[in-house]
This record gives sequence, C-alpha cells and structure tokens, in this order.
Amino acid sequence: MADAAVKEKPADAAEAQLTDGFNLLIDALKLNGLDTIYGVPGIPITDFGRMAQAAGIRVLSFRHEQNAGYAASIAGFLTKKPGVCLTVSAPGFLNGLTALAHATTNCFPMILLSGSSEREIVDLQQGDYEEMDQLAIAKPLCKAAYRVLHAQDIGIGLARAIRAAVSGRPGGVYLDLPAKLFGQVMDAEKGKNSLVKVIDAAPAQIPSPDSVKRALDVLKSAKRPLIILGKGAAYAQADDAIRAFVEKTGAPFLPMSMGKGLLPDTHPQCAGAARSTVLKDSDVVMLIGARLNWLLSHGKGKAWGDAPKKFIQVDIEPKEMDSNVEIVAPVVGDIGSCVGAMLGVMGNWPAPPADWVKTVTSKRDENVAKMAPRLMNNNVPMDYHGALGVLRDVVKARPDAILVNEGANTLDLARGIIDVYKPRKRIDVGTWGIMGIGMGYAIAAAVETGKPVLCVEGDSAFGFSGMEVETICRYKLPVCIVIFNNDGIYRGTDVNNASADPATTVFVKGSRYDKMIEAFGGTGVNATSPDELRRAVNEAMDSGKPTLINAVIDPKAGSESGRIGNLNPQSALKKK
Ligand code: ADP
Ligand code: MG
Repeated sequence: MADAAVKEKPADAAEAQLTDGFNLLIDALKLNGLDTIYGVPGIPITDFGRMAQAAGIRVLSFRHEQNAGYAASIAGFLTKKPGVCLTVSAPGFLNGLTALAHATTNCFPMILLSGSSEREIVDLQQGDYEEMDQLAIAKPLCKAAYRVLHAQDIGIGLARAIRAAVSGRPGGVYLDLPAKLFGQVMDAEKGKNSLVKVIDAAPAQIPSPDSVKRALDVLKSAKRPLIILGKGAAYAQADDAIRAFVEKTGAPFLPMSMGKGLLPDTHPQCAGAARSTVLKDSDVVMLIGARLNWLLSHGKGKAWGDAPKKFIQVDIEPKEMDSNVEIVAPVVGDIGSCVGAMLGVMGNWPAPPADWVKTVTSKRDENVAKMAPRLMNNNVPMDYHGALGVLRDVVKARPDAILVNEGANTLDLARGIIDVYKPRKRIDVGTWGIMGIGMGYAIAAAVETGKPVLCVEGDSAFGFSGMEVETICRYKLPVCIVIFNNDGIYRGTDVNNASADPATTVFVKGSRYDKMIEAFGGTGVNATSPDELRRAVNEAMDSGKPTLINAVIDPKAGSESGRIGNLNPQSALKKK
C-alpha cells in the first residue's frame, strides 16, 4: 500500500499544477462573492453544478429554468449582487431568457450562465445537439451579452458580466459558455492569475450640486408636494437616508408596490390610501427610483388631473429623464448619494402647507375607515377582503417576513390591503405585471434572507410555477403559499355556450391545490373560512414548514383583469 502511494505521488503533483474551465469558473464566482446559483442541470453543465456544490457554492436545482431565473433576478434585487442562473443550452437557455429580460426590465442585476453547443457547428448551422446561436438571441433582451471561448478569459468574462449587471442602472447579463470551455486545461498558476476580483463594481454616482439645488428649490416652492418612492429606492439600500429625507420634507409620500416598507405603510405621511387624491392634486412631484411608465399612467392624463405639475426625478439613468413628461429638475446619480446630498444642504426645511397635509390625511383616514369592516368579514365562501384581512394581520405580527404576491385581483387587492413595515419585504410582478414569478421569488427570498416567506397567489398565477413546490419541500424552505382559489382567471364563473369545452378562463371547479404539496411531504390545508385561514397561516409561519393553503374564494368574487381591465382591447362587433 505504502509503495503504491509513493508511486502515485508524482502524477498527483503534476495534476495539481493544472486547472480547467470548470474550476476557473467556480474560483472566479467565489472570488467575487457569488456564492449561490439557481439553475437546472443537464448537458453541458451537470458536472459544473456538482463541482460548484462540492466547492461550497450553494447550488439550488429547480424544475424549470424560468423559475430559477426569476429566483436569480430577485436575489439580485434583494442583495445588490448579481443573482446567478445556470442553464443548459438552447431550450434551457430560452427558458431562462424570459427571466433575464424580466431582470433587465425591472433593473435587477442578474447573470445568466448558459452552456452552449460547438461554435464551429453552430456557425455553419450543421445541426448540433441543441444548436442555437444563443449570444445573438440574448443580446437584444439584456443589458450586455458576452461569450468566453478560452479558459484564460473566464476571469475577465465574469468580471465584465458583474460590472455590466450592477453598475449604473442594474440589469441582466448573458454569459455564453460553450461546452468545450469547461474541459479546457491550463497551468494552475496562470489560471489563478487570470481571475479578476472586481473592485467597486457599482461605483457611487454623485449628483452635481447644481442639480441638487435645483431639485430642492422646486420642492420647496411646492404648495402640494408629493414624493413617490419606487423599487429603485428600495434596491439602493439607502433606507435610513431615504426615511430621514422624506420625514424632513414633511411631504406625503406614495410608495410604488415594491417601494412599500421603505417607510412603513402606517407612517403618518403615507398617502397610499389616498393615491388618486395625491396624483390629481399635487403640484410638485419628486420621483425617487420610480419611472413614469404605465404604472404611473405616464405622468399625464385623467389620473393626474388638470392642475399643472412640476416633476423632479432622482434616478441613476440619465436617459430616463423626460421619457414621458418634462422633468424640470433631474437629479442623476445613485439614490444613496442623491438623497444624502439633498439631506446635506436642506437646512431648515419648511413644513408643507397645513391644508394640503390635512386634505391628504383626511382622505386617507376616510378610505382606511371605509375598508376596515370589509376586512373583518367572516363570509363563507370567503371573498378577497375577508381573506386578505387575515393575511394583513399575519404580516403585521411578523414585519420581517417577506411577502411575495402575484395574480390579478389577488395582486391588486393585496397590494392595497396588506401593509408593509420594512424595506424590501414585498416582492411582486414588477414592471411587466407578469405571472409566474411566485415560486422562484419565494425560494430566493427564503434562501437569500433566511426569513419566513408568505406567498399570496392567484390560482392562475400559481400554475405558472407550481411544480417548484417540490423544490421548496426538497430544500425545506420556510415558505407558506396561500392560493386564492376562485376556480379560474379573474372569476370562476365564465360559461362557454358554443361547445362542450369549458370557458377559456375557468379551471377545474373545487380544485385542491393543497394536495399538491402533500405529494412531496409538505403540509397542505384546505381553508374555507377566514378563521381556518388564520389558524393555518399562523401555524405555517411559526413552524417554518413548507405549507400550501388552498383558500377557497367565492368564484363570483373578482373582476376581469383586476384593476387594469381598461388595458383589454374590446371588439366592437362582439355579440352580447
Ligand atoms: P417602480 O416600478 O417601483 O416605480 P421602476 O422600476 O419603474 O420602479 O423604477 C426604478 C428606477 O430606479 C429605474 O429608473 C432605475 O434606473 C432606478 N434605479 C435603480 N437602482 C438605482 C440606484 N441605485 N440609484 C438610483 N436609481 C436607481
Ligand atoms: Mg383566480
């Protein structure tokens, strides 16, 4: 035995001086603190996943790349580091690409690593296994796209990807990794020296003092000021400065969906429950990390009323200014630096006119009071308000929990009803208003923060990522999924009179989604009343056990497309 060991030694030593693509990529990720990968194994990245796991990177295997990609995208939002998604070639890459485009649209930093086929064969279109020119396809759908052909370029390739993802306006980056790259061997020392630890990946972008003064002058001149806090403000992790700034201005603030919790929804200045009033009647609006896109009616039209308005915008992306309406005071820089600079020169700040503050507060209190009894109703079957009243209490008792939310009515109503108390505790469908983020977001939220997750899902929305309940059970994540089951999309009552097929918007009546998680050892509960729902959610949130609650909602509850039915084109020729 001893003899054999001695004989083997020189061979081992020779090997120890070599490295390869697999190891270089793992080392490069670790060197840059990218310690978690969301993906689906397969050719040519199966061994890479195994080796990364063995090297101490957390590798979470999903059931579909789109969900892994959504997980990576929200990991980027929650941590300010690019979330990493790993996929196989062609179809796996395409599945992940939806999430990469989503990350880019939402300004979340993410890197999609996809294995790809032989360049020589792909470029001559000779029909390789999963042949596809992935780099060309990814390019228009993300912030940057790169391909690494040689092991000695892995360090530089990843460094470029990291910088592109997190600097300036964050977004998605594609990194193409042809199968051959992984096995390429090179001298270990040279390999080590080729790696790059990215220094200051998202450098501070300091606003010009002039722009800061201009913005404050405009804000000070306001008779009816409003501050809108978007998810860019939440992403910036400048929570204390933002809160101090908003409080110093005394102005009403309106959180966008994922900006909720930067200041608590119960804060005296919060105008969430007086949204239409503040949009219509404000005269100066300061946007902090929020775009004037469809979610804000493009800053014009009926929602914004007739009163002339001045817009101030704080954003890292200079091209965002004047995108929809004139911005009289653009402040370009990262939000931490911008808000810090404004705080630094505000001096004694006058309180906004008392009549404006009073108008907003009374409107808000009136709306809150109107809503209160509806949230306490005990109707069976449940309606949205009865069920959401319960979830609102659950979150109030656990302000550290993360709320994931998607659906149509389930989304629109939960956004208004469930108060959020801390930054980055509400994650949802984002800029596109997409369905399908649910399980991916829930998994990443649990993995990245270690906090319990409450996932409030429409029955249709859940269907896009439902298979990942197995993933949640496999990794034993503290996720409680509540499905608002009203038997269909928008409502469960549509009827098709033309054939035996069900209507296009309905599902199997009385479905028991709770049985799905039981198949994987999780806890399933069928809740038919607010009391049952309360008991089940509290238990799940306290135990941390993967739980799926089928909340039976009246199929008649809900309206077409939730609050955005106006976006549906209607045929003028439709038979009544
Ligand atoms: P919401 O949907 O919540 O209104 P948007 O996604 O429309 O938010 O807007 C987010 C904005 O925040 C984008 O215009 C983006 O450029 C900006 N942004 C993202 N991160 C930062 C940052 N660190 N500093 C400044 N602006 C940022
Ligand atoms: Mg439904």
